[in-house]
Amino acid sequence: MTEIAFAPDVFTWPSDEPQLIGGRCAQCAALTFPAWPSCARCGSTEVEQHLLPRRGTLWTFTTQDFLPKEPYASGETMETFTPYGVGIVQLGDDVRVEGRLTVADPAALRIGMDLELVIVPFRTDDDGTEVMTYAFRPTQGD
Ligand SMILES: [Zn+2]
Repeated sequence: MTEIAFAPDVFTWPSDEPQLIGGRCAQCAALTFPAWPSCARCGSTEVEQHLLPRRGTLWTFTTQDFLPKEPYASGETMETFTPYGVGIVQLGDDVRVEGRLTVADPAALRIGMDLELVIVPFRTDDDGTEVMTYAFRPTQGD
């Protein structure tokens, strides 16, 4: 089976220890995810690729209980949609990232819990290609 990333230059893949690819401003050191062509803080266009930490803590979260509108393209229908958690995750000191959570049950989530980045299947295309995306998974107290 072929596995591809849902978008280029978003995370390192394939990798046993994938990392999100952010942008770091060469002028003021601001970090962003995803990387933007110019710095939101100072306007510099000297933005370099910067690999973000794999682990972080949950800053806030919600759950997606209905099928999102386009361009969400999981291949699911209203009938087959599976709810999922969405979190804002603090990675290191400087950057917060929005992403799916591997847990959809709000009772299993709490602000400040430790999370790690994982790459998960997002959809399977008609030709059998598995499209992968990133998500955050609670770590088992380690
Ligand atoms: Zn800057």
